[in-house]
Amino acid sequence: MKVAIITGITGQDGAYLAKLLIENNYKVIGLTRSHSNFKGSNLNYLNISKNIVIEESDLLDFSSIIKVLLKYKPDEFYNLAAQSSVGISFEQPIGTINYNTQSLLNILESIRLLKLDTKVYQASSSEMFGQVKNLPVNERTPLHPLSPYAISKASAYWIGINYRESYNVHCVNGVLFNHESYLRSPNFFVKKVICTSLAIKNGLAENLSVGNIDVKRDFGYAPDYVKAMWLSIQQDKADDYLICSGQSIYLRDIIYYVFDYLGIKKDKLIENPELFRPTDMEDMYGDNTKARTILKWEYNKSFLSILDILIEEETNNFK
Ligand code: NAP
Repeated sequence: MKVAIITGITGQDGAYLAKLLIENNYKVIGLTRSHSNFKGSNLNYLNISKNIVIEESDLLDFSSIIKVLLKYKPDEFYNLAAQSSVGISFEQPIGTINYNTQSLLNILESIRLLKLDTKVYQASSSEMFGQVKNLPVNERTPLHPLSPYAISKASAYWIGINYRESYNVHCVNGVLFNHESYLRSPNFFVKKVICTSLAIKNGLAENLSVGNIDVKRDFGYAPDYVKAMWLSIQQDKADDYLICSGQSIYLRDIIYYVFDYLGIKKDKLIENPELFRPTDMEDMYGDNTKARTILKWEYNKSFLSILDILIEEETNNFK
């Protein structure tokens, strides 16, 4: 039986990845920063809590990583924990950059010093590309990050490559584009649009207030994206892969689609310049050819079809 450690187990991707690994007969160890503040709702929703061993481990504390590595000697280590919001990163730049880089550095340095052959997956982000000249971006596109979050992910990306090239540590960078599910945190755009729209429909909210929605992004479906994470770490040679749908959609069109679906009038939309970000990318989409050809990853969902799934699931769980 293979053993996998997942950081960020309480998040959207941690929960879906744990489910996939359990279905493939892995022993799954989930790391939490604190037992007392552990949020098990996503794992409960997928009905997998009883199949996961939860260990407390502070990724900023080198010794606490060494302890879990020595205890489990994992085959695979998925580093998903992060301050993952671009918006919050403008409010907390130092905490975001420190945490998102130091955590990976501690993990890789521990594996190197312990001489383990644990394979590492690092959750990189399309935000690293930032200001791009040519679309779609691919694995060779230069990085020009536009937020503290993007800077943290770009630094971690290069830390991963450096450990691969300098010390032969097997570190895969999966460069994730936006991916959604019912388990997405409420502060992220698509989840916020659907939840607020349902609240408006049910008389619990007046309107939907958003920032700049005249930008385009490449959105996908989280349960499919964690499959690409898993496939990427199965390769003999560590490499970098873009995990994306290959198409972008206007945020405005997402809102209009959800409003139409739920029968909400467009005057419920408020565009608030105070919510605009200091810097933003106009359009971003990726080329997933490498993931499809080398990993044999299959992805052909349109984002509107995913929105149908998300709206239905949110409606069924609406209280
Ligand atoms: P998420 O739902 O926001 O979950 C983040 C996880 O990290 C949670 O388990 C959270 O634990 C933990 N975490 C957050 N801040 C932390 C901190 N300061 N110290 C320790 N743990 C912390 O994120 P996700 O959507 O699953 O994304 C997984 C990874 O992929 C992240 O690294 C994210 O940056 C990256 N990514 C995601 C997307 C996307 O569209 N979802 C796109 C690109 C990259 P608590 O329960 O303790 O808060």
